[in-house]
Amino acid sequence: MCTNEALKRCVSNAIQKERKRVHDERKSHPTKKHDIHDYASIVVACGYSRSGKTFSGASASPLYHKYAEEIRRRLEKLGKIGAKRPGCENVIGACAEPHAADMVVKNLPGCKMNELQFSAAYRPRTGQRKKYCINCKDTFQEVL
Ligand SMILES: [Zn+2]
Repeated sequence: MCTNEALKRCVSNAIQKERKRVHDERKSHPTKKHDIHDYASIVVACGYSRSGKTFSGASASPLYHKYAEEIRRRLEKLGKIGAKRPGCENVIGACAEPHAADMVVKNLPGCKMNELQFSAAYRPRTGQRKKYCINCKDTFQEVL
């Protein structure tokens, strides 16, 4: 059973990990100008309700990412992966949610789309909690 506690821990680790990544990156390139885009915009954790395992995901361009079949099919129902559609400000497939869910589906065989569980989503740079977007609500309609 994947608990809310486990999801919270997972997303909190993901926030720390992303902050450390940016910190280390900036330290190793001290002359490079700092930019808020050094950070992944959003991180979230996802788990499988019948397993204790959780995975985190960060928002990233979907253009070079090969999604698991089930996730890809859901995303393509919205429109072209990598493009925007009316009604949502986010690029289809770029959110942290499909990236995290993709890890779950690829690593925990047998997990169906209605058995996914998500943590709240956060902006790692500020720690601010963010709402799930329309693309994500439509993609994961059974659970978000
Ligand atoms: Zn989204």
